[in-house]
Amino acid sequence: MNFIEDINIKNKKVLIRVDYNVPMENNEIVNDFRIRSSLDTIKYCLDQNASIVLMSHMGRPKDLNDKELSLEPISWYLEDLLDTNVYFSEDCISDKSLLMSKSLQSKEILLLENLRFHKGECDNDLGFSEKLSKHADIYINDAFGTAHRKHASNVGLTEYFKDKAFGFLMRDEIKYLKDSMNNPVQPLNIIVGGAKVSSKINLINNFIDKADMILIGGGMAFTFLKAMGYEIGNSLFEEDFEFKALDIIENAKKKGVSLILPSDVVCAKDIDDPTTIEVKNIDSLDSDDIGLDIGPETCINFNIFINSSKMIIWNGPMGFFENNYFSTGTQSVASALNEVSENNQAITVIGGGDTVSAIDNFNSNLKFTHISTGGGASLEMLSGNKLAALEALKK
Ligand code: AMP
Repeated sequence: MNFIEDINIKNKKVLIRVDYNVPMENNEIVNDFRIRSSLDTIKYCLDQNASIVLMSHMGRPKDLNDKELSLEPISWYLEDLLDTNVYFSEDCISDKSLLMSKSLQSKEILLLENLRFHKGECDNDLGFSEKLSKHADIYINDAFGTAHRKHASNVGLTEYFKDKAFGFLMRDEIKYLKDSMNNPVQPLNIIVGGAKVSSKINLINNFIDKADMILIGGGMAFTFLKAMGYEIGNSLFEEDFEFKALDIIENAKKKGVSLILPSDVVCAKDIDDPTTIEVKNIDSLDSDDIGLDIGPETCINFNIFINSSKMIIWNGPMGFFENNYFSTGTQSVASALNEVSENNQAITVIGGGDTVSAIDNFNSNLKFTHISTGGGASLEMLSGNKLAALEALKK
């Protein structure tokens, strides 16, 4: 695989696919994690006296005039972060934008408008890719969040460059979510949560061959518990996956992997009525209980397992964390992982998406070895699937 340091970008013009699809409210950036994560590559290019053209998508615009999804506020934000001018082009392939990139001097930066204002981006239209390629001599892909998508700016575009490579953000994502899985530090334990078994089943199956323990929390635990014969009341349940859950339990037994489910849960009769909240043992749920978080005993057990690991991968919240009453389990796992990371006791890898927003909800200063910038992409990679953008650039 080609990484940015393997190619000569000195004094060259580089086109970098970044992922600035960040949450915005009233033109304000709510979370800048993805923007900050792109800075190493940009700063390296500046050090190499390159001129830089940045491109990204934002959201799912309806059409060209969906100005709420303009990237212009990001250019202002980048100016502050980098303490330098960042030019902005109101279109990504117009003659004017090409002229702007052509006249870009060494160490200057241009950000192009939202790629998805053109249908060709999501269609992986080669005509659109070819136009984008006119911006620079070298192509760098540093957008992990979209790496599982086959789009013009991350797949088609690779056809038009001889000199191309991944940036530092991509390098780290590949290192922690892919390469380290092929040769994991043992004991490797994974913690899986979130709403649905269906979206995490491939990830769990992939780790049955690699992990020592698989800890399951979140809404998805109830499909396993029901399959094992427990009363789960009105907790989340995917009927179509009951047998698959049993298969996973059987398979884990055969392979000698410990599959750990919650021994107690925080439940309520009514999500909106805190007076109905109770902590119950997993064998004491009533038919009108809703399990909404892992309980205190499970938190303690999960912490013990975290402390016995050398590498831990976490994907998916332990409960309905958006409501404070049900966020303790997720907070407890986050704190335990933070502690083992700070003590250099274990490598901790956090899958992107909801897990990252959950952590940010209570404390954005927690430290982990690696936090992925991609939700869907990290899930795909941890499931052992090939990612379109990686395959395209490898060719
Ligand atoms: P996922 O996208 O599958 O990782 O699911 C994340 C979502 O699962 C979050 O919005 C959580 O609030 C939700 N979730 C996790 N555990 C539960 C639960 N026990 N009951 C309801 N929702 C849950």
